[in-house]
Amino acid sequence: MSNLQITNSLSRKKEVFKPLNPKKISLYACGPTVYDNPHVGNARSLVVFDVLFRVLRSLYDNNVTYVRNITDVDDKIIEASKKQKKKINEITEEITKIFHENCKSLNCLEPSVEPKATNHIKEMVEMTSSLISKGFAYENKGNVYFNIKSFKDYGKLSNKNLDELKAGYRIETSDLKKNLMDFVLWKPSVDEDPGWESPWGRGRPGWHLECSVMSEKYLGKKFDIHGGGLDLIFPHHENEIAQSRCNNNTSSFANYWIHNGFVTINKEKMSKSLGNIITISDAVKKYSGQVVRLALLSAHYSQPLDWNDDLLNNQKSILNKWYNLYSDKQDHNSKIDDILLDDLNTPGFIAKIHELYNAALKGDEKKKIEFNQACRFLGLFSETKKDWEGFKKSKIKVSESYILKKIEERTVAKNKGNFSLADKIRDELLSEGILIEDQKGKTIWKFK
Ligand SMILES: [Zn+2]
Repeated sequence: MSNLQITNSLSRKKEVFKPLNPKKISLYACGPTVYDNPHVGNARSLVVFDVLFRVLRSLYDNNVTYVRNITDVDDKIIEASKKQKKKINEITEEITKIFHENCKSLNCLEPSVEPKATNHIKEMVEMTSSLISKGFAYENKGNVYFNIKSFKDYGKLSNKNLDELKAGYRIETSDLKKNLMDFVLWKPSVDEDPGWESPWGRGRPGWHLECSVMSEKYLGKKFDIHGGGLDLIFPHHENEIAQSRCNNNTSSFANYWIHNGFVTINKEKMSKSLGNIITISDAVKKYSGQVVRLALLSAHYSQPLDWNDDLLNNQKSILNKWYNLYSDKQDHNSKIDDILLDDLNTPGFIAKIHELYNAALKGDEKKKIEFNQACRFLGLFSETKKDWEGFKKSKIKVSESYILKKIEERTVAKNKGNFSLADKIRDELLSEGILIEDQKGKTIWKFK
């Protein structure tokens, strides 16, 4: 078996991946804060770590635990709730649902565990208490802060010393903190905000603490790989390392750190103030999940990726071409390609798929199976040829399986006598360009 090599942000070098236990591979990736529709920048992390998950599963006989959390308590959520005059759980449930739909359309495998922060408050209070009692944290007026001076390795992941980090720090005046960069483990909540009882009064956890607690609970004090977007290195990941290593008195936390590069839009930074955020839902609606997925993998994960119509249209014509050789046949003995093992070189692997396509086009049946296998390994060909063609012809975003599911839901509603729901489902499908007709006790569908 060839070795997997990955670029470790900790050493800034490409390293051979050596798991702590080859029978129990552990992977943690920071999940979404569910306050707003996920955008294509978030999609890049999802797809990159999905490919890594697939590679690890294939190398280690599926013995991989992949944890991706949901942050459902955060100041951004509270802000959104006030602005939109919606209840907190209304927002978190709605966005979580959209997020899951996005993952599905991007054909990401489900993580092994998807813990929610609000289900782990007890453990967060415990870790905070423990850090105070060990002298790494202190309380002031219901706030608990981590004292960064107590951790000598602070800044090691971002390769910066405290002064350098401080220079890029937003200056905020707080009389409550001992050092400017001390960060919050626990903060007080006013009555209308979400809060839980704690030894420091009613309050809520800090974001960084959430990931330390959930990674330890599901993967242990030390684990193999921690991933996230490049923007999370500082302060989020530095703070996770500080909390976990101090609390556990360990010399390491995650052994390998992998960070994916930014997505720019037409060479500009994607940001709310520029108004150029593209949501995953919109991108999928316009181009289909597979096109979006292929576009996200077209550059190496560590490099920046520019999102523009040319890129997307290119990927669309590639998939159109590749679907000519789509086949249902599967080769279950196929081995993972060395190109992917070299630091998840997806652009190299895509080039290989082009070669396989060209060879298969000449009538080589073996190459055709290999070609299909390679596409599937990358998470492509998730739709049948019929679905793909249907999408192309009608510009309809829904797949056949979705339509059949909806028809089933409508039948159940009708059988229960809930005709208003049945009509609602029929109208929903119609608005998506799908016409359904009841014929002799059977429901058929066609494009409008
Ligand atoms: Zn995190």
